[in-house]
Amino acid sequence: SLNGKTAVITGSTSGIGLGIARELARAGANVVLNSSSGKGDPQAQAGELSDEFGTEVRYIQADLSDAQACRDLITKAGACDILVNNAGIQHVCPVEEFPIDKWNLIIALNLSSAFHTTAAALPMMRDAGWGRIINISSAHGLTASPFKSAYVSAKHGMVGLTKTVALETAEEPITCNAICPGYVLTPLVEAQIPDQMKAHGMDRETVIREVMLERQPSKQMATVEQIGGTTVFLCSDAAEQITGTTISVDGGWTAL
Ligand code: NAD
Repeated sequence: SLNGKTAVITGSTSGIGLGIARELARAGANVVLNSSSGKGDPQAQAGELSDEFGTEVRYIQADLSDAQACRDLITKAGACDILVNNAGIQHVCPVEEFPIDKWNLIIALNLSSAFHTTAAALPMMRDAGWGRIINISSAHGLTASPFKSAYVSAKHGMVGLTKTVALETAEEPITCNAICPGYVLTPLVEAQIPDQMKAHGMDRETVIREVMLERQPSKQMATVEQIGGTTVFLCSDAAEQITGTTISVDGGWTAL
């Protein structure tokens, strides 16, 4: 059980981050939810999670495209035994037309935020004598697709950060791993569908089956509960010697 542990999950008021927060709370952890905007009454969301699982759940607003905000999030959390770097966005555009501000934002949010939160959380983990860092990369951290240059670059970078932090903590009771999901049906994926329809000139059903799930041999999207369950596993005693690696939850994507 994760009773008494505090988990900070970035970008956790929707999608995969919320799924991870729920599974960690179910396993007994106290949870810190985060998003950038404060939209959708996240304080109430935290209260509901706390009532459902009987653990302490707080919400801290922070725009993690800002370096100092990342570090302040960990400071405000006060404790961070489990750090899940999940916040991330996508933008689909050919490289020569890719907007510079979008490139900079995606590198900042999808990659640099994990550097800043890790740097702030590691001293706390060392003091506590235990820590788990879980970076939510992607099948796009191991393979590429056209029109996703910033996202693929950031997600590959996150795998490199994972390996480096694992080596720096190798002799300590701290592990650092990345989860590489294939397609998981969330708002981020939903938002890609119109762009993909436009880029490929296809209707919704065709673009989902032939483009999005083309490389996912199971032909099914993973669920946020499954990504949460994988996170809980990486926090378990069974995973103590798992560090510096990636776990794919991708229906066979990276086997192709
Ligand atoms: P989502 O859009 O549902 O959630 C993204 C989260 O990030 C939200 O909670 C949002 O509040 C937060 N966020 C966005 N901008 C932020 C900012 N500036 N500061 C702080 N938080 C911010 O997306 P999702 O599909 O749940 O994706 C979560 C992570 O999983 C992302 O890193 C994504 O790249 C990764 N991923 C998703 C899939 C998939 O198929 N959905 C596959 C592989 C990897």
